[in-house]
Amino acid sequence: MNQEPVKVLVWFEGQHPADIYPQQIHGTIAQALNESGQVEAQIAEMQDPQQGIVDSVLAETDVLIWWGHLKHEEVSDETVGRVVDRVVLGGMGFIALHSAHYSKPFKTLMGTSCDLGSWREEAEPEHLTTLLPDHPIAQGIPAQWDIPQTEMYDEPFDVPKPDEVIFHSRWDRGEEFRSGCIWRRGEGRVFYFRPGHESYPIFDQPLVQRVILNGVLWCAQRT
Ligand code: ZN
Repeated sequence: MNQEPVKVLVWFEGQHPADIYPQQIHGTIAQALNESGQVEAQIAEMQDPQQGIVDSVLAETDVLIWWGHLKHEEVSDETVGRVVDRVVLGGMGFIALHSAHYSKPFKTLMGTSCDLGSWREEAEPEHLTTLLPDHPIAQGIPAQWDIPQTEMYDEPFDVPKPDEVIFHSRWDRGEEFRSGCIWRRGEGRVFYFRPGHESYPIFDQPLVQRVILNGVLWCAQRT
């Protein structure tokens, strides 16, 4: 088995107010992954050369984590093409977090609109159920768990039928969502994980960090 650290690039579209995440979202995620000892994570932003997807780095990246929200359309088709080729032809893993359901690389990999049924930002708790407790992405995650403050998404989520749905979410007002889904695309693996709105400290939560680490190991084809 390959014991080398998994090389991860955490991509971020740009600045958010730093009151929730002093290191920004990408820095928070990368630090948690690096503390695991199983991953070498670095960060990139859209304002960096080649929109943060430098060819020489991309070629060495095992898993690309994507966080975008307001600037999806600013990502060039050329950048998207290089990312998608690296997944489909090169076997790189791709993890889309939260509002990256609308990112151009994810929509290209899915081939659908990736629209939500609806959404609300009201800081209500999200109740997650782990549907596949034996899946590698669910290791160390309880059968039922909550995130105290979230933005709500509702079905239908316009994606192709996932290979597996690992986590399901519901909210007290009745909305539901497939919050952890995986697909295979060519040589690569894709994981979508819903939690992670920028206004609440979700990426600081140990269970969220564990899911992302598990997702990295699965997308890197280590599990
Ligand atoms: Zn959001």
